[in-house]
Amino acid sequence: MNKREFLKTSCAVVSGGFLSRLGVAGSEQQEKARTNWAGNYTYSTNNLHLPKSVADVQKVVKSCDKLKALGARHSFNGIADSTANQISLKQLDQMTLDKKARTVTVEAGVTYGRLSPYLDENGYAVHNLASLPHVTVAGACATGTHGSGIKNGNLSTAVSGLEMVTADGELVTLSREKDGERFKGAVVGLGALGVVTKVTLDVQPTFMVSQVVYENLPLGQLEKHLDEIFSSGYSVSLFTDWQNHMATQVWIKRRIEPGAAIHWEPEFFGATQATQKLHPLAGHSAENCTEQMGTPGPWYERLPHFKMNFTPSSGAELQSEYFVPRERGYEAILAVERLRESITPHLFISELRTIAADDLWMSEAYKRPSLAIHFTWKPEWPDVKKVLPMIEEQLAPFEARPHWAKLFTMAPGPLESKYEKLVEYRALVKEYDPRGKFRNAFLSTNVYG
Ligand SMILES: Cc1cc2nc3c(=O)[nH]c(=O)nc-3n(C[C@H](O)[C@H](O)[C@H](O)COP(=O)(O)OP(=O)(O)OC[C@H]3O[C@@H](n4cnc5c(N)ncnc54)[C@H](O)[C@@H]3O)c2cc1C
Repeated sequence: MNKREFLKTSCAVVSGGFLSRLGVAGSEQQEKARTNWAGNYTYSTNNLHLPKSVADVQKVVKSCDKLKALGARHSFNGIADSTANQISLKQLDQMTLDKKARTVTVEAGVTYGRLSPYLDENGYAVHNLASLPHVTVAGACATGTHGSGIKNGNLSTAVSGLEMVTADGELVTLSREKDGERFKGAVVGLGALGVVTKVTLDVQPTFMVSQVVYENLPLGQLEKHLDEIFSSGYSVSLFTDWQNHMATQVWIKRRIEPGAAIHWEPEFFGATQATQKLHPLAGHSAENCTEQMGTPGPWYERLPHFKMNFTPSSGAELQSEYFVPRERGYEAILAVERLRESITPHLFISELRTIAADDLWMSEAYKRPSLAIHFTWKPEWPDVKKVLPMIEEQLAPFEARPHWAKLFTMAPGPLESKYEKLVEYRALVKEYDPRGKFRNAFLSTNVYG
């Protein structure tokens, strides 16, 4: 074979493979390493399928032996990884509001950032949002993503229906109304049951929110007033660097009920109202944050901490989070605080939030009103990796459940013992994916460990 023939043949092989994937549904096979949003995790495949329709999703699923759905890439661990194929539904981005049923159905490519203004324009809202709107509804609900609020369940508690393509390429629908326990097992699905194509969410009439930040709340106030402090707004977050027994900032988001005046106290449990807009991370511009200082605004421009078209949080960072029973929240805070000299050097900031209990099998707040202790770390994995087992040891007496989408080092055994519905969940996964098409290394370790 001469050089010209060799080049022609090898191009045909390369483009043949590439085009055949394009023929299925459209795909990218990228040369350079693909990472998650934070850049701390490199995906193990460059095969990314980009279907344009549900029929395309079905074709991709049928044609792949191994496959994992990818959302907006905001998870910090390998939960969305695959060594063979990933599928992103970012081109499926339709939204349908059903005013009569008070629900909205979104395709899996829709982010909260796109959904929220659409709902608001039509007079509706979802009950809560995470700290950022950049994540997809499907990806966030698959991992039990949450905001704050003593009465607010995590975002997946708003899910009333799901449509997904299961391992054999079939389209399956599940609903809260008709499918009972099966539905509760599928909602926080960890991407294991199938590729979700549509999610239906409960909506409520749109509402306005006012946000105020207080500075320097002595953590000791939580000993007797934890519930009162976290009930002082619709959504409340405390930030701490674990130094000086202090929450450096308290973010309170209050719903403005029509006709009712809203009052902000100048002092709050020893903290004082901030006189300028703040970012939770010292040295970062508050421009990236949602409006504060009590200025009223629509729910979706106040419930997240970060604005849609700006970098949320730090950007170059790692995150971990542990859910403990709220009733033992202060005790758990004291346990973590004991490690302050090991934690603070590697920390940007910690955040404390509350989540109402739910009945979704794999939710971190399953049957437990929770306090979530979150860590935004500097991108220093070798050091953070040493601190996490120390935190997990301190939190062991509280049966802490790590956030599925963030970094943890807990061994599979202790992790499994935290989920009483794990056996039923595995059985449900087996029904929809008998040969483990959607099972990846993360699930093998942490769910099948
Ligand atoms: C700056 C920042 C701030 C954050 N703030 C919060 C916060 O306030 N609260 C909180 O709880 N979390 C928070 N997170 C974590 C984040 O919400 C979760 O990682 C969430 O799962 C990310 O959604 P995603 O769309 O990026 O999905 P990915 O990270 O891409 O995927 C997450 C999981 O969903 C599955 N998945 C995605 N799409 C589908 C689909 N169509 N079908 C089936 N499975 C699917 C994936 O397989 C994977 O298992 C934050 C993350 C970042 C980077």
